[in-house]
Amino acid sequence: MSKILVFGHQSPDTDAITSAISFSYLQNRLGKVTEPVALGEATDETQYALDYFDTKAPRVVTTVADEADEVMLVDHNEAQQSAADIDEVSVLAVVDHHRIANFQTADPVYYRAEPVGCTNTIILKLYKENNVEVPKDIAGLMLSAIISDTLLLKSPTCTEEDEKAAKELAEIAGVNMEKYGKDLLKAGTNTADKTADQILNSDAKNFPMGDYTVRIGQVNVVDVQEVLDRKDELLKEMASQSADNAYDLFLLVITNVLESDSVALVHGEERNRVAKAFDKDIVEDTILLEDVVSRKKQVVPQLTKELS
Ligand code: MN
Ligand code: MN
Repeated sequence: MSKILVFGHQSPDTDAITSAISFSYLQNRLGKVTEPVALGEATDETQYALDYFDTKAPRVVTTVADEADEVMLVDHNEAQQSAADIDEVSVLAVVDHHRIANFQTADPVYYRAEPVGCTNTIILKLYKENNVEVPKDIAGLMLSAIISDTLLLKSPTCTEEDEKAAKELAEIAGVNMEKYGKDLLKAGTNTADKTADQILNSDAKNFPMGDYTVRIGQVNVVDVQEVLDRKDELLKEMASQSADNAYDLFLLVITNVLESDSVALVHGEERNRVAKAFDKDIVEDTILLEDVVSRKKQVVPQLTKELS
């Protein structure tokens, strides 16, 4: 019998990688034979967490059917965010905190979805429901995911349950959440050795809004100016990618993770609609988004309303 593979979405973030690790461990304790894998390399932020808690990064795969018949999905459910050949394997379980879309199975499936800020908040509940203790290192990784997904509990996506889970996990992991959290977020903010394409697309998604296709990338920094210093290079790349992919608008949301503020770089014909959506002027291709940290809750709905 082949192993059951457990994995998060493509372009994995810290939650995608660590929830595969934490959920796989739980499943193994419950008698299954599983292995956590990843659909992409760990980011600098995720690698910091893995190193800190002495854990090897999961093996990177792009297809799964060549080595497994059964899989479990964490931190995603949409087929287009999953393994390229997800249609060829059976999905045994899903644990996720995103909208459910394009998801079908041939057989009954264990599906656990809750509208919380992080998949690992749900997984902590599953440990408790099954009376399995969370090992110290795994607790640290789960905590890292909550810090990452909620920007140290400051994002509007963060719920009371995430806060409670984070405190509990910090206790088990034996770290000071504030101090460790800032170090973790900072570890993911190095842009100096990244190409313009990496800055724009490491965490970017397409959103259909009315008749328009809007591409929104987000990058976490501790110094917004470091990215704005490369504005010309970034705008040039945004223009060329917009032409190639027929984006009507391209936004790069540059988020200061320590101050919980953002500035967005805006490219596209419909840029005035962005100004309208946020009731702010675009000055030299940038718009100031005060107190904005969440693309999902503070950027996409506002733009969708304006463009639809
Ligand atoms: Mn994720
Ligand atoms: Mn997540």
